[in-house]
Amino acid sequence: MSITVHQFPCLSDNYGYLVRDDATGQTASIDTPDAKAILGELEKLGWKLTLILNTHWHADHAGGNEEIKAATGCQIVGPAEVERLSPVDRKVSGGDTVDLGQTRFQVIESGGHTLQHVAFHSAADHAAFVGDTLFALGCGRMFEGTAPQMWDSLQRLAALPDDTRVYCAHEYTASNARFALSVDQDPVLKTRTDEIFDKRSRDEWTVPTTIGAEKATNPFLRAPMLRPDLAPHEAFAAIRTAKDNFKG
Ligand code: ZN
Ligand code: FE
Repeated sequence: MSITVHQFPCLSDNYGYLVRDDATGQTASIDTPDAKAILGELEKLGWKLTLILNTHWHADHAGGNEEIKAATGCQIVGPAEVERLSPVDRKVSGGDTVDLGQTRFQVIESGGHTLQHVAFHSAADHAAFVGDTLFALGCGRMFEGTAPQMWDSLQRLAALPDDTRVYCAHEYTASNARFALSVDQDPVLKTRTDEIFDKRSRDEWTVPTTIGAEKATNPFLRAPMLRPDLAPHEAFAAIRTAKDNFKG
């Protein structure tokens, strides 16, 4: 049992992900940022789409659902909030499982950026698709949820094994790195940000990251260490507010 993940940049800073279950050839698109780009990649690879897995309702994640379903006949699985944009075939929330051939994804509740945001985790493949909840050195803005909700969501992701590859939906890493350096002087962070600026100067991807790397250097996960004077979710809220106001 294994998956092949095909990653490609689309829109201005999104990543598209096509995930193929190697045993059966069944293929899922994680979110649908750009229908034309996704259909083009499927064509190029010769993969047949069976499933869309939506993390949340924003247009750069679910905006391509209808066009892709019309073109492929795939099923759409996601949180109920996606129906603000278009119909969903199966609504899921934390604790559910979704099968793609022989690959099983656990649905992890990860609300905060939007209220019903979910992540999809394949334990066997050490892979998590986290939408706009956790980024390399960052986390999503809280458009709908509260700091305690977002903190709990991040803790559920941080509890996954350290070697879990984290497929974030955006390449925001360089700007996240500039902010991280403004709140954290840790030498391990400095080493990582040097590598990130280097990679981005060559236009290389910094995603996927890993749970281990994020636990070691992500200022949002490290909030209780950075603000030991505050309760953990308050420390997180303080760092999130600082990032919202950061002009770097
Ligand atoms: Zn979003
Ligand atoms: Fe997004």
